[in-house]
Amino acid sequence: MSTSPIPAAKPIIGDEEREAVDRVLRTGMMAQGPEVAAFEQEFSAELVAGRACVAVNSGTSGLHLGLLAAGVGPGDEVIVPSFTFAATANSVALTGATPVFADIEPQYFCLDPASVEAAVSERTVGIMPVHLYGHPADMTALGDIAERQGLKLFEDAAQAHAATWKGAPVGSFGTFAMFSLYPTKNMTSGEGGMVSTGDTDLERRLRLLRNQGMLRQYENELVGLNNRMTDIHAAIGRVQLRKLAGWTKQRQENAAFLDANLEGVVVPPVSEHATHVYHQYTIRVAGDRDRFAAALRDEHGVGCGVYYPIPNHRLPSFGREADLPETERAAAEVLSLPVHPSLSSDDLDRIATAVNTLAKAGA
Ligand SMILES: *Cc1c(COP(=O)(O)O)cnc(C)c1O
Repeated sequence: MSTSPIPAAKPIIGDEEREAVDRVLRTGMMAQGPEVAAFEQEFSAELVAGRACVAVNSGTSGLHLGLLAAGVGPGDEVIVPSFTFAATANSVALTGATPVFADIEPQYFCLDPASVEAAVSERTVGIMPVHLYGHPADMTALGDIAERQGLKLFEDAAQAHAATWKGAPVGSFGTFAMFSLYPTKNMTSGEGGMVSTGDTDLERRLRLLRNQGMLRQYENELVGLNNRMTDIHAAIGRVQLRKLAGWTKQRQENAAFLDANLEGVVVPPVSEHATHVYHQYTIRVAGDRDRFAAALRDEHGVGCGVYYPIPNHRLPSFGREADLPETERAAAEVLSLPVHPSLSSDDLDRIATAVNTLAKAGA
């Protein structure tokens, strides 16, 4: 290849992030403190319509603590998609509850309300949709089911910072919602997670659970963990939060270009009720997807990824039988192309040319 490969994802770290870290290091205090408190306030105002936010050390911790704070535990069932990153079901299993896998609808790759309804049992206490790839799940239909069946709704918004459903931001629907701040997500704090909630009791339990059950030193009210975010990470996250809107717009423009220029593959549709923030730009490839992906990388220097090749219910860690045809079809067909804000117009041209060449050749 004469031209350098286009990476599938590219975290953007600038001078402001480096200066913010240095500012914290110079204070000599690095653990959870004023930067974390400021990050929580700013995230709340910017992304979740003023709901309370609690910062933790990873998105997975956020899901785990959110479920514990909501009282989920042994004997309970929570309905989750199988077509997602393993952290969704892992966090349910870690509370001692059982994740029950439901199918996705084929257009937006998110939980199918009809499949969720069919999975409800006597033991079900909650539904945890994932706003996969940055496209919100159908919060209207899932909210209706939750209300009718007396269930809680928990949002895995790890991939969907600033996405909206019927004009309201994701993270403002569920009993709690979790945003991941891992480096490849739409914004990062290095590692980290943010939990939003509109329930003040649940917020208090989250603050306790992340800090050994303490709000005041050595007055432990319950059994908790150390899942605190550091001020170093919060300082990075605060800078990234200010840049997020511009990056999201760039992702959406990149996606619009690909929508208009790809041929011979299925481009990702967007619900009329949704704003998609394109954590991933995910196409469906008919035929041999893995050969298509290998050719894209090796012959055209276009980085790409398969999220996710093995549905959770079939992972050795869960090993369940389940009849989830749309989940299986998606796992065999999806391919995520670069859509990150660092792409140049040359990069976008190269991606479109490469995809169209391979699709035409029936690769
Ligand atoms: C990234 C991710 C998580 C976990 O977040 P971490 O910050 O990596 O712990 C959970 N769910 C989904 C859908 C994710 O993409």
